[in-house]
Amino acid sequence: MTAETVSSVDMLRKLVAFDTTSRNSNLKLIEYVRDYLGEHGVASTLVPNEEGTKANLYASIGPAAAGGIVLSGHTDVVPVDGQPWTTDPWELTEKPDGNLYGRGSCDMKGFVAVALAHVPAFKRARLKVPMHFAFSYDEEIGCLGAHSLADRLMGDVPRPRAVIVGEPTMMGVVNAQNWGGGLIATFTGFEAHSSMTHLGVSAIHFAGDFIHWLNELQVELAARKRTDIDTVPGHTTINVGVINGGTAGNILARECVLNWGYRTLPGDDPWEVQRRAEDYLFNTLLPKMKKKHPEAGIGLRRRSMVPGIKPEENEEAAQLAMQWTGSNRTYSVPYGTEAGIFRSHGVPTVICGPGDISQAHQPNEFVAKSQIAACDAFMRRLIDWAERQ
Ligand SMILES: [Zn+2]
Repeated sequence: MTAETVSSVDMLRKLVAFDTTSRNSNLKLIEYVRDYLGEHGVASTLVPNEEGTKANLYASIGPAAAGGIVLSGHTDVVPVDGQPWTTDPWELTEKPDGNLYGRGSCDMKGFVAVALAHVPAFKRARLKVPMHFAFSYDEEIGCLGAHSLADRLMGDVPRPRAVIVGEPTMMGVVNAQNWGGGLIATFTGFEAHSSMTHLGVSAIHFAGDFIHWLNELQVELAARKRTDIDTVPGHTTINVGVINGGTAGNILARECVLNWGYRTLPGDDPWEVQRRAEDYLFNTLLPKMKKKHPEAGIGLRRRSMVPGIKPEENEEAAQLAMQWTGSNRTYSVPYGTEAGIFRSHGVPTVICGPGDISQAHQPNEFVAKSQIAACDAFMRRLIDWAERQ
């Protein structure tokens, strides 16, 4: 069996063809990657989720030495439901504008594809330090897979020198990223006929009070806009993304569930919004609901917490990544990535990958071919560096 050699674009074509929307299994993609690595004599370790329906994958090339570089990416993508795509989202389509269209082309199968396409080059090189691949599941629904992936990888391989998380940054080196908290608020009311509002509690109406309170908090947080950071909008943001509740127009709703979250700037208190929400929900709103009916209730549970990163003192990972991109500055981003999870293991971590984040999650998502080429160049410089260590 001859080992497959593919270009980064051809590898991206293969990866995009797997519908790894977070609600689906990613196992077909993971098995493809495992088999591809196996053809090149690289052993993979799979870290499955509890149900065995999804898996992370990690693998190492080069000496079993400390000081290696982790190339990290997520394999899942956001849904295409309801989006006006003009091409098949699961088929990478090159257009005359020089862009490659497809779900995940930018966020972030692009980086994963470039890393994988360089496996033969990594194998050929006389690496003095290893290259580690770390590919996760369920990043898009709260970085759920990366925790077990980072735990296993960091326990298994000699201490790496840096982690590169290849989320789209236009190949800029990002060393600061917001915290992201996701929560589920459940309001339980008491059903009654809509003509008898005094007999029941509408879960929807109280959920509405909470949304109003979040809006006011958002105004307060916006007034604390920071100027020492280059992300837009420069303050903590809040969003209620999903609301579900009620059964009929003439019944006081028994249940209303809000899926909401917030993003906190690096350096700000990442727990402030949750703490204040708990205080409002349980000390202000709940007594009002209970007064109307003792069976009314509120629940609040954390769905996810994606730690942010702020610039490191010695900037070790940023200095390395800047060598490999050929740039001399760093950036901040407002969106969450898996970088904070790796950073929490004490390994210097930055974000750097092909594509523009404004393309992520959009219909007709694309990555420019020139960005893939820039990431190819990054990998070549990384190999040169690893041979000189
Ligand atoms: Zn992403």
